[in-house]
Amino acid sequence: MRIGFIGLGHMGLPMCRNLLENGHAVKAYDLVPAATDKAVKLGAARAGSVADCVSGVEALITMLPSSPHVRSVYGSEAGVIAQAKAGTFLIDCSTVDPLTAREIAFDALAKGLAMVDAPVSGGTSGAEAGTLTFMVGGAPRDFEAARPILSHMGKNIVHCGASGNGQVAKICNNMMLAVEMIATSEAMTLATALGMDAKVFAGIVNTSSGRCWSSDTYNPYPGVLENVPASRGYEGGFGSDLMLKDLGLVTDAAKFARVPVLLGAIAQQVYQKHAADGHGGKDFSSVILQYLRK
Ligand code: NAD
Repeated sequence: MRIGFIGLGHMGLPMCRNLLENGHAVKAYDLVPAATDKAVKLGAARAGSVADCVSGVEALITMLPSSPHVRSVYGSEAGVIAQAKAGTFLIDCSTVDPLTAREIAFDALAKGLAMVDAPVSGGTSGAEAGTLTFMVGGAPRDFEAARPILSHMGKNIVHCGASGNGQVAKICNNMMLAVEMIATSEAMTLATALGMDAKVFAGIVNTSSGRCWSSDTYNPYPGVLENVPASRGYEGGFGSDLMLKDLGLVTDAAKFARVPVLLGAIAQQVYQKHAADGHGGKDFSSVILQYLRK
C-alpha cells in the first residue's frame, strides 16, 4: 500500500521501518527535519508538510505526542482532514483523550474519511520488534480495514468498540499501571527499610496476592531484576513525563464522566512531584526515588 506516516519519534520511526520492511511504500513527515531524514535513510519518501504527506496515499498513520498535536495535524486548514482526498483511510496511533479522538473521527467522517484510533502498548521495544498491542476504536468495517496494516507493526490487535474506545482502554490501563508502580515502590521501600532483603521480598510478593506487572516484570527496586530500567539508572523505557501526560488524560476523562478516580488523581500528583524534581525524562519506575532514602 501507499502509506503516509506523520510523527517519527521513539515509536513512529521503528513502526515506519516495519511498514517498509513489509513492502509498503511509505511517505514520511516530521516537524523536525532530522527525524524525517532518519525515515528517508530507511527507504521512505520525504514529505515536506502534512498536506504533502497525505497526498497520493491510500492510508495515513500518525504517531504524535498528545491531543494538541493531533488536533493541529488533523484539524488545521493545512491539516489532514482539509487536505486528504475522500477515501483516504486514517489511523491515529498517538495516546490522546477519548473526546479528542471522537471529535476528530466525526469531522473526518463528515469529509468521507474513515478513521480509527489505535493507541499502542509495548513500548519502544515492541515498536522495534513489531510486537505492539493495538487498541482500536472505530466501526467494525474500519477495524477490519486497519487490521492488515497494523499487523505489520504489532501482534495483538483488539477491537475495543466505537471511536475513542481504543483511547479509553489505553488510558484506563495506564492509570492502573501508575497506581501499581507507586504501590510497588512504597512496599519495596518499606520492606527494605524494615530490614528485609529486596530480592527475597519481591520473590514473596510475586508468589502472593500483591503480585502485579510492576513487581514481577518491571520491579522498580534497583538490582531485583536484570534488564529493566531500575538496573540501569532508569534510562530508556517509558518516560515519567509520558506517564504524567496519560494520568492527565485519564483524570480529565474521569471528570467528564463524573467518575471518582481517587488513586488515579493521587498518582497524577506523585508523578507531577517526580517531574518537578527533575525526573521527567527517566523511566516511570524511577518514581521509587520519591521514597528511597538518599
Ligand atoms: P516522541 O516525542 O518521541 O515522537 C513524537 C514525534 O512527533 C516527534 O518526532 C515530533 O517532532 C513529532 N511531531 C510533533 N508535532 C508534530 C507535528 N505538528 N507535525 C509533525 N510531527 C510532529 O513520542 P513517542 O515516544 O514516539 O510517543 C508517541 C505517542 O505514543 C505518544 O502519544 C505516547 O504517549 C505514545 N506511546 C509511547 C510509548 C513509549 O514507550 N514511548 C509507549 C506507548 C505509547
